[in-house]
Amino acid sequence: MEITILGSGSPPPQTSRAGQSMVVSIDDEPLLFDCGPMTVERLLENKFDLQDITSMFLTHHHIDHNSSFFHFVITSWMYGRQDLSVYGPEGTDTLISALTDIYSRDIDYRKDFGRPIEGMTGIKHQHVNDETVISEDKWTVTVHSVSHSIPTYAYRVDAHDSGKSFVFSGDTERIDSLVDFAKGADVLVHDAAVGPTREVTETDDACDQESWRQYLSTNPHPSETPMVDYHASGRESGEVAEAAGVETLVLTHFLPAQDTEATKEQAESAFSGDVYVAEDGLTISTV
Ligand SMILES: [Zn+2]
Ligand SMILES: [Zn+2]
Repeated sequence: MEITILGSGSPPPQTSRAGQSMVVSIDDEPLLFDCGPMTVERLLENKFDLQDITSMFLTHHHIDHNSSFFHFVITSWMYGRQDLSVYGPEGTDTLISALTDIYSRDIDYRKDFGRPIEGMTGIKHQHVNDETVISEDKWTVTVHSVSHSIPTYAYRVDAHDSGKSFVFSGDTERIDSLVDFAKGADVLVHDAAVGPTREVTETDDACDQESWRQYLSTNPHPSETPMVDYHASGRESGEVAEAAGVETLVLTHFLPAQDTEATKEQAESAFSGDVYVAEDGLTISTV
């Protein structure tokens, strides 16, 4: 099992961190989790064939987790994708019908290039809940509702052959029930959006600098915004990882000026395993 972080950012736009998305590869079968801003570009940068992505799991319908949905579906079809199953909370069906409605003439035009229309008309979806179990040849995915501002789900992947396991918390405050859900996982990717910020400097990416300036002009006290009630801190992520006995913890969902090293130190103060700060393109192999 190999985990590739495609995007480690959050709603404020950043070019150094795409929106949330990651791929879990099991024997070369790529499973896509979330589809935030710049997912398609990051898939290509990390040498994934777009047509090979035929299973997508959405944690929730916030812009930093699904805004590249239309972009991914159409470009992957352009590049040869013929199947797609999309799993997610209620509203996932609306996402698909909106796509085929708004882009019907775009799709008609592109089909004339000889692309099999089934890649667009045959998209399957399933709304998930705590009872959902999706089992295919190489893997089983289970689902767990977490605590965020809207219905949101964590996903767990168990690989059949290797016995390796992966959990993505989605966006959530610290919740005890995630400890059982993530029990013994090899890799836990956990929301760590709540953390200290640092000064942005001229060495930061130009988009990130400007994004943070505009963010602060409307939210001068990031630690006092409602987001702190709906996300976890580094320390809380570490506490969940420790109680669950996971092997490796990956912290993600960072603001442009988040002090990621301080966030990591918080996690390390509560967790005795390996801690990584998610960066776009970070790959972790469990083998
Ligand atoms: Zn969210
Ligand atoms: Zn988010």
